[in-house]
Amino acid sequence: MGSPLPGTKPDQRGDTVNAKTLELWRCEGCDEIHEWEDEARECCAPEITELYGCIECDKVHDDKAEAIDCCNALTAVQCPSCLRDHGSQTINATAVRVTGHCSVCNPMYSTEQVFQVEDVHMTTTNQRGDLLRGSSSI
Ligand SMILES: [Zn+2]
Ligand SMILES: [Zn+2]
Ligand SMILES: [Zn+2]
Repeated sequence: MGSPLPGTKPDQRGDTVNAKTLELWRCEGCDEIHEWEDEARECCAPEITELYGCIECDKVHDDKAEAIDCCNALTAVQCPSCLRDHGSQTINATAVRVTGHCSVCNPMYSTEQVFQVEDVHMTTTNQRGDLLRGSSSI
């Protein structure tokens, strides 16, 4: 017992540990990409392949490291309603910050909220987004 030995390894906080990707599954029957594993499994084929989406630009990669490297998305904003991760530069991340939910799980926003979210998104990313279509740049 007693105090820990000097020279004990400090807590390692590697910067890539928090790297985020979006897990996706591809049905090998029709090549459709699904966000949920069960959905892919219930599609047409018994075979599914796990894929990784870049949460910043929505590009899909076979390799997790590739998806992380894509836009180097080390931070994400998680929607408290659907638990999806949204890249910090996406309009849905702004939507979660401003309104508390993203447009994927609940696209019901007041005109005022839409205006506010698109305005904040414009200020932080210099991109004009479209909240109701969920696109971060138009
Ligand atoms: Zn299918
Ligand atoms: Zn990307
Ligand atoms: Zn959501």
